[in-house]
Amino acid sequence: MSIRLFKPSIGKDEIKNIKETISRSWLGLGPNVNLFEAKWKNHLKCKEAVAVNSGTAALHLGLKLFNFKKGKKVLVPSMSFSATASSVLYNDLEPVFVDSNPLTLNLDFNDLKKKYTKDCVAIIVVHYSGHPAEIDKIVNFANEKKIKVIEDCAHTDGSKFKNKPLGLWGNIGCFSFEEKKILTTGDGGMICSNEKGLLKNVKAMRWVGIDKDNWKSSKQYTKKNKKALHWYYEINQLGYKYNMNDLAASIGLAQIKKLKKMKQKRKKIINFYISKLKLISEIKLLVPYDTRKYTYQIFGIRTNYRNELIIYLKNKGIPTGCHWTPMTLQPLFKKYKSKCKYIEKEIDKCLTLPLHADLTYKEVSFVCKNIIKFFDEKIILK
Ligand SMILES: *Cc1c(COP(=O)(O)O)cnc(C)c1O
Repeated sequence: MSIRLFKPSIGKDEIKNIKETISRSWLGLGPNVNLFEAKWKNHLKCKEAVAVNSGTAALHLGLKLFNFKKGKKVLVPSMSFSATASSVLYNDLEPVFVDSNPLTLNLDFNDLKKKYTKDCVAIIVVHYSGHPAEIDKIVNFANEKKIKVIEDCAHTDGSKFKNKPLGLWGNIGCFSFEEKKILTTGDGGMICSNEKGLLKNVKAMRWVGIDKDNWKSSKQYTKKNKKALHWYYEINQLGYKYNMNDLAASIGLAQIKKLKKMKQKRKKIINFYISKLKLISEIKLLVPYDTRKYTYQIFGIRTNYRNELIIYLKNKGIPTGCHWTPMTLQPLFKKYKSKCKYIEKEIDKCLTLPLHADLTYKEVSFVCKNIIKFFDEKIILK
């Protein structure tokens, strides 16, 4: 058995779309990207969505949009993937790291309020593992202080929290379609917003500063339309090469069709894990999973015996992970010293277990059986 920790759930639907894209011989920014954006808009029920080539790019541009003054500060969770804080540095801003809520490992609201200063211009909120942060309180707080909220939705598909999709609570929602995420395009991301006009410049920003649809202008290159200025474009701002391409979007179009099925499978696996592991007193769940309401990208546990358990499972061929090393412990971010005492210590107990839509119940059973065995042996040895 070779169990995968994460795995994209891809197959004949994706191959069919890729084949069609290759037959059309249009691989760059084109009709598939437009269609995928439309499908995602419909999925999230948002007014605007612009596709880019990674979640990191989405965060970079998402912050960039607001033209914050150099050196201003952005509140971010220490417990996140580096992209959350790197996007702050890309924009010549300074991260202020916030500790984690002990129950959910999301931004701790009290610590957030404590670390806020007048120099702060925005908060980046991560819905860690797919479990919602206290986004309602955070948005109220941000409104009070007149600062912006960007949701890093890399772990969620936009599950609803209090009747509103995650990603639409803040000013901007940034999604990731990297291969380990709930839905994948290989690599990819999406910037979403319900605020009219806010994303106006993003299409130019993602494509070297040009706000123009090359696919559409190539269609104007006809005999009938002699005078169309199909070659004309203007660059009014510095842009990046961050566009999603049609090949990636073709994968996304297949994925979005089976999103419901993939979500269902993740939910069932988590419920299965919980039913098997709940009797082990040395284990706590990584976050308070509520699979009726939310889709999760990460399943994990917390235990004082983490390192021993990792090695035990490794010997059985079971992969595990730890998501992540808190950023306040990373050399790159050390100089922005903000203390996040809780998560810096708690992280040593955290363990990620296999979770993806192609995982079989036989595999999950095998993982659980070995975790139970590990703790049984421990108790006997005691
Ligand atoms: C994966 C991830 C990102 C970045 O997404 P990419 O598409 O890999 O650039 C950002 N934030 C979090 C929390 C992530 O897990």
